[in-house]
Amino acid sequence: MEGQSNEDRVGISDFILYDSLTNEDIVENLQERFAKNKIYTYIGEILVSVNPYRDLQLYTEKYIADYRNRERYERPPHIYWVADTAHKTLARFGQDTCILISGESGSGKTEASKVILQYLAHNAAFGAGAAPAGSRQSRSIDRQRVRAQVDRVAEILIQSTSLLEAYGNAQTTRNDNSSRFGKYMDIMFDFKGDPAGGSMRNYLLEKSRVVHQQSGERNFHIFYQMLAGLPETERKRLGLPQGSLRDFAYLVQGGCAALGKEDAANFRKVTQAMDSVQFSSDEKDSCLRVTAAVMLLGNMEYEADPEDRSNSSVRVKSSCRQAVAQLAGLLRVPPDGLVKALTSRRIVTASDSVDKAYDLPQATYARDALAKAIYDRLFNFVFEKVNSALAAAGHFGSDGDKRRAIGILDIYGFEIFEINSFEQFCINYCNERLQQLFIELILKQEQEEYEREGIHQSASSLTGPSGPVRPAGRDLPAPRPAHDREFLARCEREFQQRPSPHFDSRKLSPADKAMQHERDFRITHYAGAVVYSVENFLDKNKDTLYQDFKAAAVQQWPEGAEASNRVQKRPPSAGLLFKQSIQALVQRLAGMRPHYVRCLKPNGSKQPGSFDSRLVEHQARYLNLLESARVRRAGFALRLPYPYFLQRYKLCDSPAVWPHPPPGMPPRDAARSSILARLQLDSEDRVRYGVSKLFVRHARTVFALEQARVRA
Ligand code: ATP
Ligand code: MG
Repeated sequence: MEGQSNEDRVGISDFILYDSLTNEDIVENLQERFAKNKIYTYIGEILVSVNPYRDLQLYTEKYIADYRNRERYERPPHIYWVADTAHKTLARFGQDTCILISGESGSGKTEASKVILQYLAHNAAFGAGAAPAGSRQSRSIDRQRVRAQVDRVAEILIQSTSLLEAYGNAQTTRNDNSSRFGKYMDIMFDFKGDPAGGSMRNYLLEKSRVVHQQSGERNFHIFYQMLAGLPETERKRLGLPQGSLRDFAYLVQGGCAALGKEDAANFRKVTQAMDSVQFSSDEKDSCLRVTAAVMLLGNMEYEADPEDRSNSSVRVKSSCRQAVAQLAGLLRVPPDGLVKALTSRRIVTASDSVDKAYDLPQATYARDALAKAIYDRLFNFVFEKVNSALAAAGHFGSDGDKRRAIGILDIYGFEIFEINSFEQFCINYCNERLQQLFIELILKQEQEEYEREGIHQSASSLTGPSGPVRPAGRDLPAPRPAHDREFLARCEREFQQRPSPHFDSRKLSPADKAMQHERDFRITHYAGAVVYSVENFLDKNKDTLYQDFKAAAVQQWPEGAEASNRVQKRPPSAGLLFKQSIQALVQRLAGMRPHYVRCLKPNGSKQPGSFDSRLVEHQARYLNLLESARVRRAGFALRLPYPYFLQRYKLCDSPAVWPHPPPGMPPRDAARSSILARLQLDSEDRVRYGVSKLFVRHARTVFALEQARVRA
C-alpha cells in the first residue's frame, strides 16, 4: 500500500487510503501514530507533521541515506522525502520547486525548514564536484573551487539561522523560540544540483514586541543575549547599566526578569554568525550600538515641562539627560535634535513651520514608534547582510541561466486569538492567498498530469474553497477615514450595498452573540470565521512615525536620509505594503512545483508525549487537512508508475496461480492482463491506464490489491 511499508504498520500512513474520511478519523489516526513516535503521515504528497517535543533521532545520517532517491511508497513518511523529492524534481526535470510549511505557533515549522536545509546541504556534499571538462589538473582545481563554494553557501544558509533568530525570534507563551516574522528562502542550485547561492525575504516582523510584551513573554532574543554575553567593558562602552534586567523597561513588560540559560552561549553563536556572513567590524559595532540604543530608548522618561503654562506638554526627565547623550552617541545623531524629536513635532504650513510640544501620551507614542522603527530597520539590515553574503558566495558562471531554485516558506499559520487585530488580519489574509494558490496549483497539476498521461478526466470538478480574499486585502478607501469606527462604518455601508457572505459586523447583525462589541466585525475565511476588533486598525495600518523622527533615526542609513528629505504626502500603508509583498510571493510560488508540510502542535504545554485531541482537531480544521485529502482523492486515490506497480504486486501473479506474462510484454499490458484482469479489477470505474502510470480511482481497490498481495 502506498506509504505503508513494512517498517510502518502503525495506523494508516496516508490519509488518501481512507474510503471516507472525517476530521475525527484524522485526529484518531494521528494520535495512534504519535503514540508510537510516528510523527509523519501523508495526505498524498502533502506531509503532515506532529511536533514530538523531543529528539526522536529522526535526522541522522542513516535517515539521510535512507531517503536519498526514494519514491514515496518505498519508505515510511518522513520530511526527508519532501526535501529529496523537491531536489529530485529540480535535478531531473529542471523545474523550480517550493516547500510551503504552515502551522500554528510552536507546531515545528522552523525546525522543519532547518531539517530540510540540513538535508539539502548534506545531499550537496555528496553531489558536488562532478568533473568539469579540461585537463585533469584544472579539473581538480575547478572541483576544489566548486566544492569550497558549495560549502560556503551551505555554511551561510545554516549559520545565519542563529543570527536571524536572535533578531527575529522571541520566547512566547506558545513557543520558547517563536519566529516573529515570516521567512521565504530561495536556495539556488547549479545544473548539477549543488547549492550555488540563495536569497531570503522576510515578512511582517512583529515589531510591536520591541516596546510591549504580553504576560509571560520576552522581547526579541538579541537583547537578552547581548546582556548575558557582552564583556563588561563592552557593556560599559555602550552605556548599558550594570544592574539587572529590571533596569530595562522594554525587556520586562511580560514579567520575565531573568536571563535564559542559553542566552550567553547563543550570543557567541550570533557573533560567530556575523563573522561568517562577513560583517565588517564597523557593521558589527553598528548592530550592537543600535540594539543598545533601543534598550536605552525604552528607559527614556518624561516629566511635566515647568515652562509650559498650559501644563500639558512634557520634557525629557532630568534624570535621563545623561542617557540622552549616550543614546545620541549610539545613534550618531546630535543630542539636541534627538531631544527635540522626543518631545515635539514640527508642523509645516504653507508659509511657516512651528514646533508643537507633545503631551505625555504623544511623547510616549513617539518614543515607542521610534524604537520600533529603528529595530525594524536593523532587522532588515541584518537580513540584507546575509543576502549579500549569499550573493557573494554564489558560483554562477557560464551556467548562470541553468540555475534552479528550491523555495522554502516558513510562515505563520492561520491565527485566532481572544482579541484579533490588524496583525491577525494580515496573517490570515496571507494564509488565505496561499490556500487559494494551493487549490489553483493542485488543479493545474492534476490537469497537467491527466493530459500527460492521456487520461480523459477533468480536474475542474475538484472545486476549491472560496474565500473573501478581496475584502481582506483591500487598501482603505480614499479619502482615508480618520477613526477606526469611521472605517468600519464605511465597510458596513459598502457591504450593505454589495452584500458578501464573508463580511459581517455587530451593526449589520446586532443579534449575533459572537460579536459583543461595537468595534467587532467578522470575516469568514476559508478556514473559519474570525471576529476582529477594529480598534487601532488605522493606526497600525498607517504605521506612523513622525517625520522628524524619521530624519533623526535614519541618518545613518543613507537611503533613509534621502527618503526623509523627500516630502511624502501619503506613504504606503502597512497593509498595502504587506499585500504587495504577499502578491509578489504568490506570483513567485505560482511558477514553482509546490510541496506542502502541514505542522501540528500536539498540546499547549510544550510537553513531549501528550496529545490533546481537541487542540489537534482544531488545527486540522484550520489547516484544511480534510479538504486537502478530498481534493487529492477526488481524482484518483493512487497513481503508480507501471514498473513499480508490477514489482509490488507481481506476487499476486504467482506462477502457482496463473502463468507469467510473456517476456517483453509492455509493462502497461502486463499490469492489465496479468494482475488487474485476474483480480477482476480491470474496469473503467476502478482503474485508468495512463501512458506511464496506472491510476486507481478508489482506496478500496488499493486495499483489494494489498490483500491479494498479502495472500500471495
Ligand atoms: P512559530 O510560529 O512560533 O515560529 P514554529 O512552528 O516555527 O513556531 P518551532 O520553533 O519549529 O515552531 O518548534 C517549536 C519547538 O518544538 C522547537 O524549539 C523544538 O523544541 C520543538 N520541535 C519542533 N519540531 C520538532 C521535531 N521535529 N523534533 C523535535 N522537536 C521539535
Ligand atoms: Mg518558527
